[in-house]
Amino acid sequence: MNPLLKDVLKLNKVGPKSKEALNALGIHRVCDLLHYYPRTYETVEAITDIDKLKLNEQAYIKGIIASSVNVLRLSGRVMVQCTIEDDTGRIKLMFFNQPYIKNALHQGDKVIIKGKYIIKNNRKMISAPSIIKEKEYEKLQKIQLKPIYPLSKSLKLKQLTGYVEQSLEIMKFDIDDYLPSNIRKQLNLASLSFAYEKIHYPLTRENLEIARRRLIFDEFFLFQIAMKGIKEQIRRSDNEFYIKKHIRVKGFISELPFKLTDAQNKAIENIFEDFQSNYTMTRLVQGDVGSGKTIIATIALLNTALSGYQGAFMAPTEVLAKQHFHALNSQLGAYGVKVDILIGGTTKKQKEIIYEQLRLGEIDIIIGTHALIQEKVSFANLALVITDEQHRFGVMQREALVNKGRYPHTLVMSATPIPRTLALIVYGDLDISIVDELPIGRKKIETYLVDSSYHERLYKFIIKEVKAGHNVYVVCPMVEDGEDDNGLLSVESYIDVLREVLPSNIIVEKLHGRMKSKEKTLVVEKFLTYETQVLVSTTVIEVGVNVPNATLMIIENAERFGLAQLHQLRGRVGRSDIQSFCVMVSDTKNSDTRKKLKFLKEHEDGFALAEYDLKTRGPGDAFGIHQHGMPFFKLADLYEDINLLEEARKLSIHYEMNDSLQTQLELLYYQLNTDIGL
Ligand code: ADP
Ligand code: MG
Repeated sequence: MNPLLKDVLKLNKVGPKSKEALNALGIHRVCDLLHYYPRTYETVEAITDIDKLKLNEQAYIKGIIASSVNVLRLSGRVMVQCTIEDDTGRIKLMFFNQPYIKNALHQGDKVIIKGKYIIKNNRKMISAPSIIKEKEYEKLQKIQLKPIYPLSKSLKLKQLTGYVEQSLEIMKFDIDDYLPSNIRKQLNLASLSFAYEKIHYPLTRENLEIARRRLIFDEFFLFQIAMKGIKEQIRRSDNEFYIKKHIRVKGFISELPFKLTDAQNKAIENIFEDFQSNYTMTRLVQGDVGSGKTIIATIALLNTALSGYQGAFMAPTEVLAKQHFHALNSQLGAYGVKVDILIGGTTKKQKEIIYEQLRLGEIDIIIGTHALIQEKVSFANLALVITDEQHRFGVMQREALVNKGRYPHTLVMSATPIPRTLALIVYGDLDISIVDELPIGRKKIETYLVDSSYHERLYKFIIKEVKAGHNVYVVCPMVEDGEDDNGLLSVESYIDVLREVLPSNIIVEKLHGRMKSKEKTLVVEKFLTYETQVLVSTTVIEVGVNVPNATLMIIENAERFGLAQLHQLRGRVGRSDIQSFCVMVSDTKNSDTRKKLKFLKEHEDGFALAEYDLKTRGPGDAFGIHQHGMPFFKLADLYEDINLLEEARKLSIHYEMNDSLQTQLELLYYQLNTDIGL
């Protein structure tokens, strides 16, 4: 096995605990560390002379310990103090609650320290400095740009950096550049090992750009190669499942509590035509949030089941899978169709039963998450595969599910409104049905943008909505405090506040990706049945969750989310004919960000938002694709990097698969068998 594909446990200093912390960040294999790119880079400051220190600023000082190192005890606190001296002066160092410093530092030691220069009780000092070993400083000096990674509470930068370094070491020996040097030269691309090394440790900005260029190219190229594989497999295959429109489907539609929109009818017609065409269906149903895509899938699945075949419906989160299961199970039961659900949280025993029933064809419609693509799953006669919120999956995942059948029809559904030209690249040559109509009776969601001084009023707003019998969502960017140093609001601390300020008969619960599957399900169910009225959540609820009774969505630190995400979040309310509200809370002063938020406030149409995004090209915010879209376009921006995309596409057309290319595909598609962490 390629060492890069091995579990992170194989690395030095990774134990069960740090493995867990890494997994929570989506890092499972050694190569995932290579692809865990820095969030930003810090420049290492030079050494400051003591006489040039600026008050209340951090600085590096290099000098000699010029006094003895003393331990003081002051009102229960242990302090260690000593004096550092360089050619320009001397200053006191004050360490708090670190008695061991006494043994680590000695008069006459040459040291480098980093700390803040303050004046306290008229005395100048460096408060709470850290001591930097000579070796470490040398290393820092060599790195002009120090990588800063997104971290969690249980994983420190130093640890992660250590792991990344190990992965780079392994990479140097075990990577085989699939692109021959003549092609690299022609396209002006760096080698793969250079790119991985420099994306983590760039010596210069120029290095960084060169590294990025290669990795962006790879993202596009490998993506297209993967697409090509799928297209060849599916596209040209003859229709193995000729499915006629079943007589009972008409009855099902007429018994729905609502009338289908013209756009929904059109999409359904498209699907029925595909079912009866010469080729296997590969269709994308694209429709804005709330346009009613689920019922389209339901009808396609019902028709398939009634015709004696099996259908599979894959959702990106367990919450969404459960929701679909409950809906389909209750709607289709009367038609003698057996519906079941398979997710990570399904018990082992239950799983075995389901595997057996799928293999024997006893289950007609299976709904699930990535659990559906596990090796053990096999079908009797799988004729239709549907993936919901397609942009949340990797291509490989869809392929894996499709491979469970013998050229089944595939339908992918997405709320991401991307321009058609881009859709062609992102989705290949799928046929597209656009659901460009919302069910009648929907009211415009009133959207507000406020700053954090409105919190008191927001709490009152929550109470008002709950008193009217409605549900309320609050979305925070973080799970717990301290994951980020920007003072962002977290689910954990917000829930404490709400429980404090809201009357005790209003039940507040939380939802985030780190909770167990069972807990998540329970929380959503209670929210749906109004046992819980307020849900404080991360963006876990962003996709697909349907609680029509919810009327208020509060988005904290709205500046942190992209337009697409905000639009999706807002789409969690306004799912019935009750007036709904969305309040974005942000203190940002950044004028571009404010403009973006204001645009969202004034527009509700996903396509208008996409266009705005395209025009303004907010960094890293290309609508629906960059951040929240294709999970493996980590560096690439479909709009900014369109030229590279074109180069990659051209090269991919006639490119032959070989071993090192195959390996590289495996290295990059890290989500293949792991939950994407929602
Ligand atoms: P999305 O397109 O975002 O997946 P859903 O399929 O979850 O939207 O539908 C949102 C809500 O609208 C659901 O409660 C669904 O039952 C309802 N709905 C779907 N189609 C119609 C329609 N034609 N008329 C009224 N309500 C509808
Ligand atoms: Mg949906």
